Amino acid sequence: MESRPITLRDLAAIDVGRLRGVGDKKRAALAAVGIDNVLDLLTTYPRRWVDRTNEARIADLVVGEEALVLVTVRSVNKRVTRNRRTMVTVNVGDGSGRMQVVFFNQPWRERQLAEGLQIALFGKADSYRGGLQMANPIVDLIGDRTGRIVPIYPQSEKAQLNTWELAAFVDEALRRCADRGIADPVPAEVIRRLALVGRGAALASIHHPESMREVGAARRRLAFDELLRVQLVLVLRKREMERSARGLTHATAGELVRRFHQALPYPLTDAQRRVIAEIDGDLEAPHPMHRLLQGDVGAGKTVVAVTALLAAVQGGHQGALMAPTEVLAEQHAAGVRGLLGDLHVPDPGNLFGDRPLRVELLTNRITGAERKQVLAGLADGGVDLVIGTHALIQEGVDFHSLGVVVVDEQHRFGVEQRAALRDKSADHVPDLLVMTATPIPRTAAMTVYGDLDVSVLDELPPGRTPITTRWANGPLLEGEVWSDVRSEVDAGRQAYVVCPLIEESEKLEVASAEETYERLLHGELAGLRLGLLHGRLTPAEKEQTMELFRSGALDVLVATTVIEVGVDVPNATIMVILDADRFGIAQLHQLRGRVGRGGHRSRCWLVTKLEEGRNPRVEALVDSTDGFELAEVDLDLRGEGTLMSTSQKGRSDLKLASLRRDRELVQLARDAAFEIVDADRELARHPVLLDELDLLFTDEDEEFLSRG
Ligand code: ADP
Ligand code: MG
Repeated sequence: MESRPITLRDLAAIDVGRLRGVGDKKRAALAAVGIDNVLDLLTTYPRRWVDRTNEARIADLVVGEEALVLVTVRSVNKRVTRNRRTMVTVNVGDGSGRMQVVFFNQPWRERQLAEGLQIALFGKADSYRGGLQMANPIVDLIGDRTGRIVPIYPQSEKAQLNTWELAAFVDEALRRCADRGIADPVPAEVIRRLALVGRGAALASIHHPESMREVGAARRRLAFDELLRVQLVLVLRKREMERSARGLTHATAGELVRRFHQALPYPLTDAQRRVIAEIDGDLEAPHPMHRLLQGDVGAGKTVVAVTALLAAVQGGHQGALMAPTEVLAEQHAAGVRGLLGDLHVPDPGNLFGDRPLRVELLTNRITGAERKQVLAGLADGGVDLVIGTHALIQEGVDFHSLGVVVVDEQHRFGVEQRAALRDKSADHVPDLLVMTATPIPRTAAMTVYGDLDVSVLDELPPGRTPITTRWANGPLLEGEVWSDVRSEVDAGRQAYVVCPLIEESEKLEVASAEETYERLLHGELAGLRLGLLHGRLTPAEKEQTMELFRSGALDVLVATTVIEVGVDVPNATIMVILDADRFGIAQLHQLRGRVGRGGHRSRCWLVTKLEEGRNPRVEALVDSTDGFELAEVDLDLRGEGTLMSTSQKGRSDLKLASLRRDRELVQLARDAAFEIVDADRELARHPVLLDELDLLFTDEDEEFLSRG
């Protein structure tokens, strides 16, 4: 007989059908809810626990709210209603009061709920004929169960599985594990430092706690295990990538970067200095950089990016900056050229000791002889910096020696692009910096981008005029909005009006934008010069309208969300977002970032139809202009599911852990993963941990975690 402790892998190998009490019918029922083996069973955690010492009392029930009460059955009565439904009426009570419970079409309740029985009821309290009532609540029999705290499992009416059956199967499984005990693969040192309870104890007490405190400790331990598993996969991959790929060792303290910083019209912010130092550390290391730079709109990411690119150039290599669209690439090119001025590269081989820095734009609009020249320059090293779309690294573009690549907006930079990057040079992999202006909470970033290092630019450059945001709730305030727009225009400023988002149909969205434009043109904003911008215009039409707005020939730009990215008109100081509640927090924040870009005070109006009560999303925008703070609120309001799915990557199957509630635990798990992997890079001394890595993940997770 084997006597080593039981691992999760062992549990996964035991079919639930082998448990006593699980016959063919129950086996099928369990399979229907995704429970095939004993690991599945033991990780089917209670949905809640009934604490008999601290139960809710009938007297505390609030009409209209869901609650749990622990009561005794006083009487039961069954009848058939006029429309031939059975109705079982049960009178229940506790020390504090009485109420009535009704069940429709559940005739068996009459037999189940015998007088004197103790039951837990979970449901919505209604008032009925002056008294309290619950209709079709969830019922848990408590009377015949031991323990002060009773676990309540997710029940499935359809699969004919109820909580006490599940509890009995779990008990049986735990009992069978008791002899050998459950293995705990997490290093003792980590367990001690984080004051974690043992895995076996945690499993036992999450299913059978002695106190609610015990539940908390068990939950923390099991959630930690889930997070550690994810982090180990990511950290192993990160370290493997660092070991296997040969990178360049850039000298960051060079003349070119020094000149660049000296020529800037402003000093770097502390945040910029810190992030540049973090990047320098990567550039100087022999392995390729893989870093994500998060920074709100306007945080000054461009200077940081250019600094990294110039570090490559001063070592005789090239830099590439990639944008998601051609328009943005063109804007970037203009911006970067402006920033670089007439910077010269120190060149000892040159008679004058200097040569001009050569920056080129390469998009599909660059064709013919011009394109040939750029391509030749990239191949022979004559071009120092190139700015373009992802096509830069995908199609047959040859570089003399590509040293640093900066990608703006991460979400379109996936697996293939990374692979293409590796192929760009036979003898080294370029350093990669991925930039995003869509902040995501730190702990979420650690999970979604866990194989990247993350830098955060969390300080806006000084002199930025803060944007005041106000909520125009209903037509009365909307009137104030338009007079506000007029007075800004009178003062020589410009305005954006963002039309309602209609996600289902671009056609409808355009129609509504046209309607808004007409309405404002002949109504609220009559007499002002209005332009209209939407997704169905040709690129030339869009460009023309933008140019008119940029040059000041238009006062107001009525637009759909096409203005979300990249539009930069410092004289625009007021933005009105119509039907603001149709947008998400992140999107509102991005939109709002289009104003407040110059020296004038800026305002943003969020317009909604008259709403009673609160609007947490709109209020969040009113309260904060900090993208990271807003990202945290967003996570709280929406939950991580949405966050993870919008990142186009798999969502880890976290049964207990929550990126939202367990922020601290995510960090602890990540630290522990680094500690473990850095001491033992193949996990040779942790065979059980290694063996568990692919357990408990969905197929989607597998794909996410094995990519790269
Ligand atoms: P991001 O790309 O992060 O949205 P940008 O790099 O476009 O932001 O910078 C936004 C604006 O802030 C630019 O006009 C830039 O010139 C300015 N800027 C950047 N860094 C500083 C600084 N340290 N001090 C003052 N202004 C700065
Ligand atoms: Mg390097």
